[in-house]
Amino acid sequence: PSSKLPQVGTTIFTRMSQLAAEQGAINLSQGFPDFDGPALLKERVCHYLLNGHNQYAPMTGVPALRQAIASKIKSLYSYSANADSEITVTSGATEAIFAAIAALVGPGDEVIVFDPAYDCYEPAISLNGGITHHLPLLPPHFVIDWDRLKDALHRKTRMVIVNNPHNPTGAVFSRADLDTLAELLRGSDTLLLGDEVYEHIVFDGQPHLSLLCHPELAQRSVVVSSFGKTYHTTGWKVGYVVAPALLSAEVRKVHQYLTFSTSTPFQLGLADFLEAEPDHYLQLPNFYQAKRDEFCQLLAGSRFRLTPTRGTYFQLLDYSAISDRVDVEMAEWLTREVGVAAIPISVFYSQPPADLRWLRFCFAKGSETLQKAAERLCKI
Ligand code: PMP
Ligand code: GLN
Repeated sequence: PSSKLPQVGTTIFTRMSQLAAEQGAINLSQGFPDFDGPALLKERVCHYLLNGHNQYAPMTGVPALRQAIASKIKSLYSYSANADSEITVTSGATEAIFAAIAALVGPGDEVIVFDPAYDCYEPAISLNGGITHHLPLLPPHFVIDWDRLKDALHRKTRMVIVNNPHNPTGAVFSRADLDTLAELLRGSDTLLLGDEVYEHIVFDGQPHLSLLCHPELAQRSVVVSSFGKTYHTTGWKVGYVVAPALLSAEVRKVHQYLTFSTSTPFQLGLADFLEAEPDHYLQLPNFYQAKRDEFCQLLAGSRFRLTPTRGTYFQLLDYSAISDRVDVEMAEWLTREVGVAAIPISVFYSQPPADLRWLRFCFAKGSETLQKAAERLCKI
């Protein structure tokens, strides 16, 4: 049979995690913590699960959770969202992104993405008849090439996708980035899809500058986040979309037929936890910065070169002093021969630069795991 996604195979995350398991390697590839979420949060979810809250949630999400999200974004980003019409709970950020693209991108519409780009954008664009226009981020700091963006924007640009903090590079937007984006989009109908799932994982005292912080950008933005990263519960798959009412209404039309609604006890438990410990996520920058610093220090004696990541729980390591294998082969070799699995980043490019010699390592792990992995990485 003909395929609607002929270029798509099994994702790099599944492939590397599988290889790591087969080889008994330390898995720093797919991004997930090896520690659990907060005890109170788990207790609240169990409470609802055991006490009869196991039927469909409202299509748009449990009201208490939408309200808690509204309070959170008000205090963090000074953005006043109407919880009834502008916030929608989804089954992870992945569903949110798909629903937003399916609702807002049509045949022939162009969508700009910045490479290296997280893997779920382009398939969603293609399935809906859109055309992906790839622009490379400029190393070493993986910043947007504003001149190229300016040239790429035109009448058919329906959407620009911005992932901040950025997976896999760890780049983080500055205030000037938001201002430049606003300037370039002024007067157009182009929408922004903000993938901000790592919003609470930013380092060195920088703030996370959500699209919601910028009133002019927020009007044209659909902003997606996920509780999976924030509460160390990637397996729960609860995310959400914040967008002005007219855009939210369109996203909801897709969401209601894609999944209809998201798991009830998880939503109720999250709502209780956000109310009981509204500041929990404020500890995340320090918590993950300590892990980043530990991982970087442990690798100080290795032949890898690194610039400490500025956000997300991923660290890029440059292995050009060790090998000139291409990164997909290097990742496989490292998993099989060294016993540490990582993610090659060429898979996130439409046209990977030939001299790309970086691998992505997830440091959302306990000290013992980081030490064991670093010990192996220092030997090569
Ligand atoms: N966007 C980015 C940049 C991600 O890294 C991830 C997953 N880690 C997602 C979206 C998907 O999030 P979720 O697991 O909530 O679907
Ligand atoms: N977002 C996770 C990562 O970047 C992977 C999620 C997935 O496996 N699809 O590693």
